Amino acid sequence: MTSDALVVPTGIKDETQARAQARARARAFGDFVRQVPFPAALLHRDLSLLAVSPAWTAQAIAPAVAVGGDAGGLVAPEDRVALLACVHEGADFSRFLPTLAQDGSQQFWRTEFNACKDPDGEVYAVMVSVRDVTGYAESVLRAERDEQRLRMALELDDLLVREYDLRTGEMYFSDTAPELRKWCAFKDDPLEIVHPDDRQRCADVMATRKIGEARVFEFRLKRDDGIETWIRAVGKVFVDQDGQPEKLVNLFKDITDRRRQTEAIETLAFRDPLTGLPNRALFQHRFHEAAAASETLGEKFGLIMIDVDHFKDINDTLGHDAGDALLKRLAGMLQHAFRSGDTVARLGGDEFAVILRGLHSEADMMRPIQNLQGLLSRPIEHGGRSFTASASIGAVLHGDPDADPEHVIKNADIALYRAKEAGRNRSILFEPSMRSEVERRIELLRDIRAAVSANEFTLFYQPVIDIREHRVAGFEALMRWAHPEQGVLTPARFLVAFEDQELSLRLGDLALEQALRQMRAWLDQGVEFGRVAVNISAAQFRSGRLAEEIQERLARWNVPSQRLTIEVTENVYMGWGSELVSENVRKLHAAGVMIALDDFGTGYASLANLRQFPIDRLKIDKSFVQNAEDEAIVKAVITLGSSMGMKVVAEGVEDAEQLGALVRYGCDQIQGYHFGKPMPADEVAGFLAGFDG
Ligand code: C2E
Ligand code: CA
Ligand code: CA
Repeated sequence: MTSDALVVPTGIKDETQARAQARARARAFGDFVRQVPFPAALLHRDLSLLAVSPAWTAQAIAPAVAVGGDAGGLVAPEDRVALLACVHEGADFSRFLPTLAQDGSQQFWRTEFNACKDPDGEVYAVMVSVRDVTGYAESVLRAERDEQRLRMALELDDLLVREYDLRTGEMYFSDTAPELRKWCAFKDDPLEIVHPDDRQRCADVMATRKIGEARVFEFRLKRDDGIETWIRAVGKVFVDQDGQPEKLVNLFKDITDRRRQTEAIETLAFRDPLTGLPNRALFQHRFHEAAAASETLGEKFGLIMIDVDHFKDINDTLGHDAGDALLKRLAGMLQHAFRSGDTVARLGGDEFAVILRGLHSEADMMRPIQNLQGLLSRPIEHGGRSFTASASIGAVLHGDPDADPEHVIKNADIALYRAKEAGRNRSILFEPSMRSEVERRIELLRDIRAAVSANEFTLFYQPVIDIREHRVAGFEALMRWAHPEQGVLTPARFLVAFEDQELSLRLGDLALEQALRQMRAWLDQGVEFGRVAVNISAAQFRSGRLAEEIQERLARWNVPSQRLTIEVTENVYMGWGSELVSENVRKLHAAGVMIALDDFGTGYASLANLRQFPIDRLKIDKSFVQNAEDEAIVKAVITLGSSMGMKVVAEGVEDAEQLGALVRYGCDQIQGYHFGKPMPADEVAGFLAGFDG
């Protein structure tokens, strides 16, 4: 090749200015080349040498790369064409050049031609560089060895690699796992190879996959020969430099065997052997999933409990075979009646349960139940005989994400119980009113606790009238629940609270504190309220310190003890720890607190039993006062009470007639609607002012 061949046409631009610019640029580049730490040279586009780096001259460059100072001998003969292409077309070039070093070791060089272009894209020079890339080349070789290892792994593991060019639609397969290959090719849509039943699932995985992210998923292959083949696949979309999707690379592995093994294990752990349905363990798992979806997504789900009617009779009269046949039949019917996504489980014996996810209304649940009942009415043939079976069904729709999911199971059980109670062979949808007394009580206690914390409890005051002296003797403090939705509730609605140890203590505390604070306020305001009676529950005596506690409070509020009455029912006196009660009552009495025996006549205590207690007041229960037939009792109690030095208070006096009788019998004090209903504290002053005896 002659140097003529390398002569580059001067081109269109031959203005001196442009030339000067090109020269300036080349000179600047030449300065740069002279400083690079590796062998490099800058060639003019006529291939004359413009500049060389010190390393170029200092280092013993492999002879094949560079052989001298002139352009002709600079480049290995076989690279000359590439050099021309670089000059003429601006095409960069690079290649590896293995050489043997003087010590016999192998060296690798990388020769590079880079076109230097002016702003118009015209090549004005070429930079030639030669770099020792022995270390890099070795790592490349190692990578090649790694690639071989990878190949071996693919073969050993029977993995199939599929590369799909997203632009051209070309597909490449590794030469491994040949029997998978024929099922893993597709025409337009990668999902073509997926079994129709698994397609949606895979589509979901793919839809949520980000480009460049690898996702693992398992699916069944769509095979014409009907052989079930489970695949574990990893897929990743690779992008080009511009971030555009370029190719889809997948790794496929046949996991049918492993899948069968795990299925077998799952079957043992989570399937009922007789019916093949999910067992209780799997049911529980699915139930928690449904509950979690309800809690986080607000999804509604239904739970249905099914119990075969008179199953024991069928077993006993027709034999266990018939029983088993019936259970299997029922399992089949259940699977028929409900959607394939619903969990139909056998919980044990003749008990089945169904979880229905993603419901909108109760109707969504009642429809399949009706289907099931229709199926059940068909006769079952067994051992030449035919019999019909029926089932009781309890259902519940869970739509309150805040409700405890454990209640759902309980509620479904309650509905089932109701269905049985109502004569079996029917389905009943749970309603809150079905919940047992016990459960309602627990719920109520929970509500009350919250209400106490929210300060919804307050005292009302009912006047007690002294009919001899025609004046207001005092007031009884009665607890009220100012319910935010239901208005003011009387203790009838929260009596359970007084039976609950912890709550009755809190309410007792609250009553004493509020009553004393109120008395203090009235005293300060000059409201002449007489005495205030506070009801004390059994629980309040348990600490053993009630007397001290009350005295401390009286002192704290600076209320004279003569202003306070405590009302204790005879049941409290006669019940648990009566010594403790009597001791505390005695202390309080000694301190000046008045003691009233409440609800007298409703318990089992006789007045003789109660002699040991320092009782100042006897309150006749309103049931006696209001019942004309109990006149004799009322009369006797009043006579007895006064003979023992107690004042007698009649409760529940609602009319003048009752009042007249009590006056005749010599009753001292009257409490009842006739004189006044329990009222808020701020009405007391007005009541007192308006009272005319
Ligand atoms: P109790 O101690 O026997 O209170 C008298 C009850 O009779 C009150 O019912 C009162 O409103 C009602 N009453 C008064 N006069 C009449 C009337 O003329 N006709 C009718 N039908 N009823 C009348 P309330 O306020 O519903 O309280 C019921 C029970 O709750 C009380 O019976 C008491 O055992 C308990 N209780 C109320 N407040 C407290 C409290 O602060 N602590 C404790 N431990 N128990 C309380
Ligand atoms: Ca009372
Ligand atoms: Ca009473």
